Amino acid sequence: MEIIHVSAECYPVAKAGGLGDVVGALPKYQTAMGHTAKVVMPMYRTKFLYQNDWIIDFKGHANLGNWWFSFTVIKEKTNRLGFDLYLVDINGLLDREKVYGYDDDTERFTAFQIAVINWMTHWQHKPDVIHCHDHHTGLIPFMVKYCYDYNKLADVPTVFTIHNAQYQGWMGWNKSSYIPRWDSWKHGLLEWNKTINPLASAVKNAWKVTTVSYSYLDELKYNSNGLEKLFEFEKGKCVGILNGIDADVWDPAVDTYLENHFSKESVTEGKLKNKQLLCERFNLDINKPLFVFIGRLVGEKAADVLPDAIVSSMYSLNNGVNVLILGSGEPQVEWQLSQLAPHYPGNYNVFIGYNEALSHLMYAGADFLLMPSRVEPCGLNQMYAMRYGTVPVVRNTGGLRDTVVDMGDFEGWGIRFNHATAGDISYSIQRAAKLYSDDEVHLNWMRQRMMKIDNSWENATKQYLNVYGELK
Ligand code: ADP
Repeated sequence: MEIIHVSAECYPVAKAGGLGDVVGALPKYQTAMGHTAKVVMPMYRTKFLYQNDWIIDFKGHANLGNWWFSFTVIKEKTNRLGFDLYLVDINGLLDREKVYGYDDDTERFTAFQIAVINWMTHWQHKPDVIHCHDHHTGLIPFMVKYCYDYNKLADVPTVFTIHNAQYQGWMGWNKSSYIPRWDSWKHGLLEWNKTINPLASAVKNAWKVTTVSYSYLDELKYNSNGLEKLFEFEKGKCVGILNGIDADVWDPAVDTYLENHFSKESVTEGKLKNKQLLCERFNLDINKPLFVFIGRLVGEKAADVLPDAIVSSMYSLNNGVNVLILGSGEPQVEWQLSQLAPHYPGNYNVFIGYNEALSHLMYAGADFLLMPSRVEPCGLNQMYAMRYGTVPVVRNTGGLRDTVVDMGDFEGWGIRFNHATAGDISYSIQRAAKLYSDDEVHLNWMRQRMMKIDNSWENATKQYLNVYGELK
């Protein structure tokens, strides 16, 4: 099969979160299973662009409303990532350093999608599937079906994967002229709640819709930022497929970001060496259990509850734990987390920013990973933590519910709680601290138990291929 993935992110080219990890891994495994998987994404000005060699694949032009623009598609020369990688350059829109967060994101991603379809109409053949990821590519299923200029592609199956349904790409009807000439009778297929909603449109128009865990698919029917009824109505074409993790990148035995490698057998000593590095760098006490949080400091991740939960845990455990935070996001939360540091010298620290290398060291050196998420479509952090022998302390939701079993249940290796509140988080931290201080044997058993879990991509890749196989 020939599958073309269209995405705003792909690790290591550009990543802002889990979407990048998935689009960097799934095509590699599809290629390894004998299929042709291609990724096309915007040509941001990231390091990866300058460090690799490219050839020009196509030059074209298109319109975004009244604005005529030219675009170039370049292809990475050496197949370095294990699949064909294409970047779309649109001067003035995509030539930026960051992936998201600009005032003209609507224009940037709409123009990107138009350029991608335009490029595909010039191919000598048609792909077997167009696989779109999240709302930045959500207009494609509609456009290939109903834009007159793209008639040639109208029968190409589209699959849409929801990595996060909170962000939907809303745009007012005043921007409907951005979409190339389309069958206006079909306006209902673009709309939700009186605006153009690319995520809703993709759910309506894609041939199949997948979510990145089974529990998240269930939860969308009662919590999806306004689309609950749509998910109930379209449930027949939706499938939950749990993400895998890229076992080549995320392996403590060979991880290129780590100085001290370890395996299941050497997990206790290996983790301690990494913990030592973290404790030296962030002035923490090596003898206390180390809890880390890695992620976007936003409401979805319940990052706003962390300051209270930390204060409460430090109080109830008499400063008997270490907490280290890595993340960036809402300024208020960044500020609150930063200003806690001087109150707990030797016990607490924070790194505001994005740092891939530090995140690897934290998965390797921490004893526990905190994930109190209010919403978690799949969550990769807990799977990385498990692979590095770090006990996940997670809220009972979405992919966290699907991947972590509480240590109180049969053969469980994690800690689960129900509410994203300071009380529940701090109670869970106390459970973890007690395990750390009173039952080292059980803690080591849990570490080895979770390191054996196979969360690799092979399984998920087969499930995606089954979904493609059903598209007729
Ligand atoms: P999201 O909702 O952000 O996509 P996921 O759990 O699916 O959450 O994926 C998050 C990914 O981003 C993980 O690979 C995690 O290690 C990484 N990550 C998040 N924030 C940071 C950060 N500040 N520095 C380094 N890596 C980060």
